[in-house]
Amino acid sequence: MLFNFLTIFPELITESLNFGVIGQAIKNKNISCSVIQLREFASDKHRSVDDKPFGGNDGMLMKPEVLGKALEDKRHTKILFPSPQGKLLTQAKAKELSSHAEITFLCGRYAGVDQRVLVHFQIEEISIGDYVVSGGEWPSLIIMDAIARHVPGVLGNQVSLEADSFSSGILESPAFTRPQVWNGLKVPEIIVGGDHAKIRNFNEWMSLLVTLKKRPDLLAELDPKSSLGLKWQDKSKLKEFYNQLSIEEKKSCALDNLENLLNEI
Ligand code: SAH
Repeated sequence: MLFNFLTIFPELITESLNFGVIGQAIKNKNISCSVIQLREFASDKHRSVDDKPFGGNDGMLMKPEVLGKALEDKRHTKILFPSPQGKLLTQAKAKELSSHAEITFLCGRYAGVDQRVLVHFQIEEISIGDYVVSGGEWPSLIIMDAIARHVPGVLGNQVSLEADSFSSGILESPAFTRPQVWNGLKVPEIIVGGDHAKIRNFNEWMSLLVTLKKRPDLLAELDPKSSLGLKWQDKSKLKEFYNQLSIEEKKSCALDNLENLLNEI
C-alpha cells in the first residue's frame, strides 16, 4: 500500500516515518510513503501556497491553483483531507480504508484550504477529534498509522490487532508483565497460570468490565451473536464473574467499586 503526503513541511513527515512499527513496515516494504513538497507546484518566485480569504476573515488559506496542480497527479488515488470538520476516525474506518492501494493526504496549514478544492476532487474529510491542531501533518500520520496496522504483514503478529481495543468493538483487558507483585499490587492468578482457554475467557469478561467502566457507550454496539455479545447479555454471569475476583485483583485491574455500576445494568 502506498501513502502520499502533500505538505509544506516534508521533514515533519519523513522524520516521523523512521520509528517503530511504521519504520519497520517501510523497511520490509509492506507499505511505502512518498512525501511531496506543495511549494513545488507554486508558480511565483516566492513559491507561495497561501492567500488572504475573501470576506476579511483572519488567517490565510491554501490556494486552489497550487493544490489543484498537486492533486491532479493523484486523481487516481483515494484522497483524504484531515480536518476537524470531517467524520471522526474509527478503527472500523481505518480498516475500511486499508483496502485502497494508494491513499493521498492533503495536509492543511494556516486556516485550511479553499473549499472548492474539496468539492472539485471529491475529497473525503476525516477528523482525529473535536479539537483543532495547527496542521494536517500530525493528523495524516495518525490516520496513516491506524490504516497501516490493517495491512497484512505490518503487525508481525495478527493476534495483537484482533486483541487491540475497538477491533472487537470494545476495550482491551488490562495487561501485566513481571514482577507478579509490584507495590503491593498483584497480577490476577488466572493470567499467571498457563491455561490459554481460561485466560481468553477471563480476558473477555475483563474487557466487558473495563468497557463498562470507561466507555459504556461502546457496549450498545456489540454484535449480539459474538462471543463478547453473548457474555454481555448474560448480566448475572457478569456480576458473578466480578464478585469472584479478589479485592487485590479488582484493585490491580482498576476495577474496584464497580458494584453500583453493575447494579444499574
Ligand atoms: N480553520 C479550520 C482549522 C484549520 S487548522 C477549521 O476551523 O475547520 C489547520 C489544519 O490542521 C486543517 O486544515 C487540517 O488539515 C488540520 N487539522 C486541524 N485539526 C484537525 C483535526 N481535529 N483533525 C484532522 N485535521 C485537523
